[in-house]
Amino acid sequence: SLQDGLSSAFKSLRGQGKLSESNMRDGLKLVERSLLEADVSFEVARHFMRNVTEKAIGEKVLKSLNPQQQVVGIVYEELKELMGPVDHSLHLKNKKDVTVLMMCGLQGAGKTTTCGKLGKLLKDGQRNPMLVAADLQRPAAIDQLHVLGEQLGIPVYSDRQEKDPVKVCNDAVKAAKKQGADVVILDTAGRLHIDDELMKQLERIDKQCHPEQIYLTVDAMTGQDAVNSAKAFNEALEIDGVIITKLDGDARGGAALSVKHVTGVPIKFMGTGEKLDALEQFHPERMAQRILGQGDILSLFETAQKEFDQEQMREQEEKLKKGEFTLDDFRKQMAMIAKPGLMQKMMGMMPGMGAMRDAMSSFDESELKGLFGIIDSMTPAEKANTKLIDQSRRRRIAAGAGCEPHQVNELIKQYDAMAQVMTKMVGGSMRDRMKMLNE
Ligand code: GDP
Ligand code: MG
Repeated sequence: SLQDGLSSAFKSLRGQGKLSESNMRDGLKLVERSLLEADVSFEVARHFMRNVTEKAIGEKVLKSLNPQQQVVGIVYEELKELMGPVDHSLHLKNKKDVTVLMMCGLQGAGKTTTCGKLGKLLKDGQRNPMLVAADLQRPAAIDQLHVLGEQLGIPVYSDRQEKDPVKVCNDAVKAAKKQGADVVILDTAGRLHIDDELMKQLERIDKQCHPEQIYLTVDAMTGQDAVNSAKAFNEALEIDGVIITKLDGDARGGAALSVKHVTGVPIKFMGTGEKLDALEQFHPERMAQRILGQGDILSLFETAQKEFDQEQMREQEEKLKKGEFTLDDFRKQMAMIAKPGLMQKMMGMMPGMGAMRDAMSSFDESELKGLFGIIDSMTPAEKANTKLIDQSRRRRIAAGAGCEPHQVNELIKQYDAMAQVMTKMVGGSMRDRMKMLNE
């Protein structure tokens, strides 16, 4: 996968000890190769690498303290750039008007499912959506939409006698006005491959129904095909946004990388499952993190934010930003995340936390109390600087906590691992992320 490719490229860079321009270039070639192998289009990969190379080659990076890490940072920024900016708005008109949204894409890309997901999103947002069965290619398509509509409690417009999908769409808009629906979602037909007839049909729907927004669903699993189809759809229709589906599978975002660059339109949402609530806003920074395999830091903090005392979180953020993470912070963190299930969820999202997760998952409450006992047996000076803790201090702490000295050591190791990850990963842009979360 792209993730594996990039991670081995970075590993090879890291293995270089001192970086020179030439081994930097070798490392970047590996980055480029993994992009191409992940179905990122040639044009996009070249554009991407030109930008990355320009920033990575040069005194400032090579002579810096940690050039390898900087390269990862540059690649991250470039990935974000490539997939952004975003525009999550559905451009809905006033509730008194009918807003028409049109879904298009290849067969099997996830159009019908996504229509249902959007319908749910709108309904949850106090709108009155209506789904329109404009895929007359397959008889089963109409039934499929009705099933979705029933599940969601959303009206579905269909006309099994009508052969012209354009007429169906027109009639649906009229029906919507009558029934008081304020958003109409057109589920159009797809083909296995782009063909003229399909495109002409979609163009006719576009011209006659004037959709406010046209969305293209793109199957993340199909890689290069997805990109070619996006290009063709966009030339015929001027799409307003892309929805990438099936990002819950193995797909590592190769399609996501190319599609924005190729079409110039934002990626609005991503489908992350077959269920009707599996639709998420697309965030370039999260996708970049995912591609880089850094774990989804942002989701982590979203989970955390829901469960934690926000004030305490804010204090933690401030400290982490300054690179501070003391044993007392560690204790607080543990106390906060020692809720069943939450711990594993968070650890699973954090890079380099596999070992921690395994260690933590075996903790029950009494063991956690044991850990806290150890921390509480330390002096403030020891807590502030665990390097002070030599053999004799270790014995004293263990005696105070009623445990073995090696358990004191284990705790310190776990703390070190967590502190390293926390302070390294929670870098400068944390403020922005938190700000966003609090909006
Ligand atoms: P259409 O032909 O474009 O209308 O595609 P459908 O909506 O019928 O979807 C085709 C298949 O993909 C169905 O089995 C869906 O359940 C599945 N599907 C759609 N979106 C997603 C997604 O985000 N994740 C997963 N795992 N499956 C999806
Ligand atoms: Mg369909």
